[in-house]
Amino acid sequence: MLIKPNAGRCVAPGLGITTHPDVVAATCDYFRERGASLAIGEGTILGVTPTECFAATGMSRVALEREIPLLDFDALPARKTPVPHGVVLTHLMITSALDGFDCLVSVPVMKTHMHCGVSLGLKNLKGCLRGREKVRLHQLPPCAKVPSAKSLDLAIADMATVLRPQLVVVDGFTGMQGLGPSAGSQLHPHLVVVSDNVLAADAVAATLMGFDPQEIAHLLLAAQLGVGVIDLAQIEIDPPEWRRWTTPFARPPQKVSFEFKDVHLLDSESCSACLSTMLIFAQRYYAEVADYLPLSFAIGKGHVALPHQTFCVGNCTAKAAAGGHVFIKGCPPVASEILRAVRNQRKRSSAHNKKC
Ligand code: SF4
Repeated sequence: MLIKPNAGRCVAPGLGITTHPDVVAATCDYFRERGASLAIGEGTILGVTPTECFAATGMSRVALEREIPLLDFDALPARKTPVPHGVVLTHLMITSALDGFDCLVSVPVMKTHMHCGVSLGLKNLKGCLRGREKVRLHQLPPCAKVPSAKSLDLAIADMATVLRPQLVVVDGFTGMQGLGPSAGSQLHPHLVVVSDNVLAADAVAATLMGFDPQEIAHLLLAAQLGVGVIDLAQIEIDPPEWRRWTTPFARPPQKVSFEFKDVHLLDSESCSACLSTMLIFAQRYYAEVADYLPLSFAIGKGHVALPHQTFCVGNCTAKAAAGGHVFIKGCPPVASEILRAVRNQRKRSSAHNKKC
């Protein structure tokens, strides 16, 4: 049995960003007492070191205390898996770590997601994809067959047709609301949702967060592809008064705006990792760049023309940066590198001005 928490970011437990290690520990203990042979596994986001990430999130401790293997999915080869009924995907590169297990348990944390509405049992499985493959899902072109849907939602639904957990345990002790998956605020519903169907689990968890499951595009699309049902009338839910535990989560904003004067963020088709980096940069370094304001930053792959001297942040902006802008590589990029690039560029400009 392979336990797949949401533990792909290098952050401490209890922030609602990653699954709490106590929930992972309890899941492990429950199944071990019943004779299961276990492992915990995760594929981190790009740009973090898995060993540091597993230590920070508490997964190393859970695994060590129980003498359970802890698998870094990206350290193992990926296998090319056909997606025969995919709308936008023909194949996926999925970690071969799953091959040795007959049961996959998705253990997400209950949180909002600025691009997907919510991130729960289904979205958590994106961590089973090879590192670059996670990024590919964010970079798909618009789908002509279903122009009303975002390609990312279609891709997650396609993924659900070939990557399905046998069990979902949603950690709803501390969740994240608002600007999830990593820059929102915490709240504490103090609950767990368990189901042997990923869409049933996600539909119930989303409802408990104050969402209508029908408005979560990737859930609706996956249901249309036959992965399961999200119609609550068709799901057997225990206890009958389950809605009593509803804790409305603040919704992710439709558009992220910065409240940092003279910092202009041009966002065109970015993913949540770049947005989070920019928020972290602004929160952490605003005072340090005060002398250099105003500043313009671009993130995402959709830019055609940019204002003079824009800082192009993240690999997706590489092409747009070629027009004489400052490029800051990374996927996701690192906030301290943005600071360094701003300082260097401004120093060069002032040296140039003095010469003139
Ligand atoms: S460069 Fe940024 S927007 Fe592009 S895929 Fe990477 S993290 Fe996402």
